[in-house]
Amino acid sequence: MRFALAGNPNCGKTTLFNALTGSTAHVGNWPGVTVDKREGSYRKKGVKIDVVDLPGIYSLSPYTPEEVVSRNFIIDEKPDVIVDVVDSTNLERNLYLTTQLLELDAPVIIALNMTDVLQKDKRKIDTEKLSEVFGVPVVEISALRGKGLDEMMRVAAKAADSPRKGVSFAGENSGISGLYRGAYALYEQAGVNNAAFRAVKALEGDELEKNKNPRIVEQIERLCEEGTDYEALVADARYKFISSRCKDAVSGKKQQVKLSKSDKIDRVLTHRIWGIPLFLIIMLAVFHLTFSEDFLYLGAMGAIPEIAEPTIWNDIFGNGAINAPGTILFNLMDIATSRLGEVIAGAMPEGTWYASLVNDGICGGVFSVLSFIPQILVLFLFLSILEDSGYMARVAFIMDRAFRKFGLSGKSFLPLLMCFGCAVPGIMATKTLEDPKERKMTILLAPFFSCGAKMPIWAAFGAILFGGSHRDLIVYGMYVLGIAVAIVSAILLKKFVFKGEASAFIMELPEYHRPQFRNTMVHLWQKLKHYLFRAATIIAGATVVIWFLTNISFTFRFVEDQGDSILGQIAKVFSWLFVPLGFGMGENGWMFVVAAFSGLIAKEMVVSTLGTFAGMEEDALEVEEGQLLSTALGTLVSGMAGGAPAAFAFMAFNLLSVPCMAAVGAAYGELRSGKQIWAAVGYWMLVAYVVGALVFWIGTYWWISLILIALIAAAIGVKVYVDKNRKKKLSLGGGAAKSGD
Ligand code: GDP
Ligand code: MG
Repeated sequence: MRFALAGNPNCGKTTLFNALTGSTAHVGNWPGVTVDKREGSYRKKGVKIDVVDLPGIYSLSPYTPEEVVSRNFIIDEKPDVIVDVVDSTNLERNLYLTTQLLELDAPVIIALNMTDVLQKDKRKIDTEKLSEVFGVPVVEISALRGKGLDEMMRVAAKAADSPRKGVSFAGENSGISGLYRGAYALYEQAGVNNAAFRAVKALEGDELEKNKNPRIVEQIERLCEEGTDYEALVADARYKFISSRCKDAVSGKKQQVKLSKSDKIDRVLTHRIWGIPLFLIIMLAVFHLTFSEDFLYLGAMGAIPEIAEPTIWNDIFGNGAINAPGTILFNLMDIATSRLGEVIAGAMPEGTWYASLVNDGICGGVFSVLSFIPQILVLFLFLSILEDSGYMARVAFIMDRAFRKFGLSGKSFLPLLMCFGCAVPGIMATKTLEDPKERKMTILLAPFFSCGAKMPIWAAFGAILFGGSHRDLIVYGMYVLGIAVAIVSAILLKKFVFKGEASAFIMELPEYHRPQFRNTMVHLWQKLKHYLFRAATIIAGATVVIWFLTNISFTFRFVEDQGDSILGQIAKVFSWLFVPLGFGMGENGWMFVVAAFSGLIAKEMVVSTLGTFAGMEEDALEVEEGQLLSTALGTLVSGMAGGAPAAFAFMAFNLLSVPCMAAVGAAYGELRSGKQIWAAVGYWMLVAYVVGALVFWIGTYWWISLILIALIAAAIGVKVYVDKNRKKKLSLGGGAAKSGD
């Protein structure tokens, strides 16, 4: 037997699914976290029932991927029972979907979820009355507290035994009853299943239904009046039915006039003016907790003396300051992996090619990814807490207004935020954007956000440029540069490629919840799994390939000078391409070109590739020990013919170019078009190249920035002038011209 869980976003389907199946699906507080359906099984007293968690939807129209997935599953795969999960704190809105599900020829039961909240508010729902109105069983549950679940499954199993014919309350009890009955009869005659559902869909002018039964829909369209918006009529009928029949279903303190706790918190957190600054402060705190080396600012205050000969404890907990929890964990993992690396290196015969392959190639690459896992986990722990509490849904709402100016809506915010962690889940999360324009644009912007794998590059360069005295500013600057490029890029894309307004942003704000330990841990495990998988596959594979390409010559000899290797030779040929960016110049230029190329496979490779060239241990780079870095990598960087501007151009290029092959794969998975993915890759490379060149030239000749500013000012001036003239013409030409917009 198979049951499908259907319901609005945030009604608690995934929580219910996890509680029933003991599974660990992602529970999120914004629409559409579950776009793909998920299957698991419920086992109790020897019975096994398959349960499917469908994506959250507001209706069964084909406007969003979630709606299509849910609808196709219910119609084509015919689950034995549809469990309609209803957020009982938001009854009327949730029942809108219920009226649609009931049109299908399938046993349905209504599961009133979140009854624990209801109970706390001393409210009660008349389940018998609801059951009578809708003609299906109604059960009260709390997915979160695990209440009523077995009873629900028992009722559902019973419902599965008796087939049910769909009914339409929108068609039967409204101004379009006659039309509906005619349409229904046509489907019945044709012997098509789900006649009630299809009849309503045909009236609504539903595209999927048009394709499915073109002949019948044509007949029905002939009955319809031209120019009448039947879709609106149907929607209206649904709302009227719900409000008239279910009005008295909720008893107890009606419509609390008093502000709920959530509302009170929202007054502060989603304030028109303070909302965004508060969010920035919260994020700053999160980044500080994760990355800071001076957690309580004791170092800055000079409260802790710096020790000249740091012990291992100093390496872990900080010297002259206290490290943030994230940094401490990072150090622990880093020491552990480098010790492990030493053990492995010690076990290998020295000087052989395979020792070099294992030590420099595999261990170097994989360990550098592993050592960042704790920090990434800490970052995600905080983000999951913010997410699970319901705050992140609010942030998307706050950001909506700002994003609209760039042709995006608040929905793009979360995928883009995820990109600070890793572009792969970020790009995958664009599934939740129903507007294809917005989805493509968000994918195009995704790599500009500095992901976790890029951070070591900034840290390494920050430690050598300007003698390491501006490290925090350099790292911060790279994050800001990425955001700035994304904004400019969004404006240009909106102007020239994806014209038009952003889609409307409707989203229900869930009540604030205390984050659930289990949910939070589930999030973490999923992120960790992703990174472990990456380390074990892509990074390990890529490091081996890079190792071969940088150690073997075209004649398949093990080379002494890596400049003679395959990649070295290729890079030498192509390094002129990067002369305009400064880092392709000079004797060492090809090394930076190779590092930048390897970064296209995975950004984790950049530092380890440079490290190999600097003739030092990869892990020494990761430990961020000033002396080691400045002597080895520093020599390499100071040998750059283009000087510091070239180093910044190199960083900018790495920030903006193709983030990694995994991200390209994820983008392909979302775009599903060879042409578009090539266009995206081309766009990223172009932006990286242009911005890299700008950074180099402005850094080398500061007056170039004056010319640029003059050009931009001139362009704005011309645009304002042209617009003014056009407006004048319009207002002269006819009284209909609108003014003031
Ligand atoms: P989905 O979008 O339908 O999959 O909903 P989720 O399972 O992601 O749940 C949305 C939010 O509602 C989460 O923060 C859950 O913790 C919360 N939630 C789910 N079920 C209940 C419940 O029975 N009671 C309460 N108080 N919260 C719940
Ligand atoms: Mg879900």
